[in-house]
Formats: sequence, structure tokens, C-alpha cells
Amino acid sequence: MKFAIKSKGDEKSNQIRARIEQYLIEFDLIYDSEEPDLVISVGGDGTFLEAFHTYNHRLRDTAFIGIHTGHLGFYADWVPDEIEKLIIEIAKKPFQVVEYPLLDLTIYPKNGGKVDHFLALNECSVKTAEGSVVLDLSIKDEHFERFRGDGLCISTPSGSTAYNKALGGGIIHPSLESIQVTEIASINNRVFRTIGSPLILPKHHVCKLEPIHDERSFLITVDHITGTYNNVDAIECKVASEKIRFARFRSFPFWKRVHDSFVSDDRT
Ligand code: NAD
Repeated sequence: MKFAIKSKGDEKSNQIRARIEQYLIEFDLIYDSEEPDLVISVGGDGTFLEAFHTYNHRLRDTAFIGIHTGHLGFYADWVPDEIEKLIIEIAKKPFQVVEYPLLDLTIYPKNGGKVDHFLALNECSVKTAEGSVVLDLSIKDEHFERFRGDGLCISTPSGSTAYNKALGGGIIHPSLESIQVTEIASINNRVFRTIGSPLILPKHHVCKLEPIHDERSFLITVDHITGTYNNVDAIECKVASEKIRFARFRSFPFWKRVHDSFVSDDRT
């Protein structure tokens, strides 16, 4: 089996990375940063997101696992003390896999420019540095509302505990193949009206955002990555056909992870 390791880059993470690499090579596994079967991220959720974006072109062949060197992460849920146990489990192979849904995002520019396509593990958000975001939101080609406000966040189920949660969105179990549209400070008064509640869309319900003031530039985030886009014609969001595969070596159910992350963590 071939593996790669992504470290956060601090001293503690680099030391753990070196230990894991040495142990796994002693167990006859091969280090291959180009075509790994297993990617081990060492750091925090941010490191895990970077690992996902580095290898998201080969999701069918690569599984992921996260070790945290700071506080308990949502994706980085193994503690450094568990490394020996984890190495033995990895060396035993084959391992079980758990799949979670992803967000498929396409940004269409005006005048037939280059179309940008992304997969997000957590979410995308659409904002602007120039006043309010004003856009038409449609679902399955039906106009739903004209949104005015700071922006919108469209998240995956596993991303529902990240930015989405801070915006008042619901926490969605990753067995529900869905995306969630959450408002960021919408303007609601006698003149302007939005639904005001998060919307949870099932697979195949494409959500389309069409800017009204198309001369504005948009700040579009995809997980930890932010880009500035001019001349945006439309942004399409849907449940991706691809999924992320987590290597599963022990049970740590989603609701237990939510509890330990947000209610009380007796693991660290
Ligand atoms: P960061 O360093 O600002 O980390 C943000 C926090 O989000 C970290 O504590 C991380 O552990 C946590 N996090 C990441 N994914 C999570 C998930 N799925 N469930 C629960 N917590 C999660 O930024 P970063 O490390 O570059 O991570 C980018 C992520 O930060 C974005 O995908 C977004 O979800 C999140 N974010 C959150 C807020 C907010 O809560 N107000 C604002 C902006 C971005």
C-alpha cells in the first residue's frame, strides 16, 4: 500500500509525521506523494482541508485520515497518543472506508470566459467587498427569491458543523446526501424579503445564484481557499457525484464527534 503524509508544518506535527513515515516504511508500506492509497494529515482541520484539496483529483483511489496536534478536530480526530495503535491497524490492511458527501460548485463567467469547477469538503461562501450581495436564487430552475445581504453559505453535511453552524444552520448527518444554503445577514424589511431559514436540498436539486449587479466582484470561498471573481454570470451548487473516503480504523460516530467538539470533550 502507498501512503502520503500532509503535515501542518509546525515542529510537533513534523516530528509526528517523521515517526509515522518511519514506522509505516518499516511495515513495508511505500511513501508515494503522487498516487497514495492513504493520505494521513497531521495538524488540524485546516491541514485536513489542504490534504483533501491536494488529492481531490483521485478521490476514488485515495482514503484520508486525520491526526490532530492541537485541539480535537472534526476531521482530524486521532490524538498523537494513538499513533502506535493506528500504525498497526494501517499495516494490517485492508481497511474499512466511510464515505461522506461533497459540494460540487461551478462558477460561470459572462461572455463565455473560463468556467471554474470545485469540490468542497466543508462549504463555499459567496460575498462581496462592495456593498451588499444581490442575487437571484433558483432551485431546480425555478426562481425562489432575490437575496440581499452579506452573502450565502452552501455547505456539505460534514461542513454543517463549521461556518454553517456559526450562521445558525442545522447540523446534518453525513448519511443524508444534501447541501444546505444558509444566509449571511440577509436584509429583511417591508421592501426586501428572503426566506430567512436555512434550506436543505437533496441530491439533484441544483441551486443557482445569479448576481444582479454584475459589475461587482465577488469573494468566493471554497473551504479555506478564497478567490475574487469578476463578471460572474452564475454560480451552480449541487451534491457532488464524488465522495470523500475516510479510512475507518475505529468507531467514532458523527454525533459523538459533534458532542465531543461542541458539548464536552473527555477525549483530550
Ligand atoms: P481557521 O483556522 O479559521 O479554522 C476555523 C475552525 O473551523 C477551526 O477551529 C477548525 O477546527 C474548524 N473546522 C473546520 N472544519 C470543520 C468542520 N467540518 N466542523 C467543525 N469545525 C470545523 O480556518 P481553516 O483552518 O482554514 O478552515 C477553514 C474553515 O473555517 C472553513 O471551511 C469554514 O468552515 C471555517 N470558518 C468558520 C467560520 C466561523 O465559524 N465563523 C468563519 C469562517 C470560516
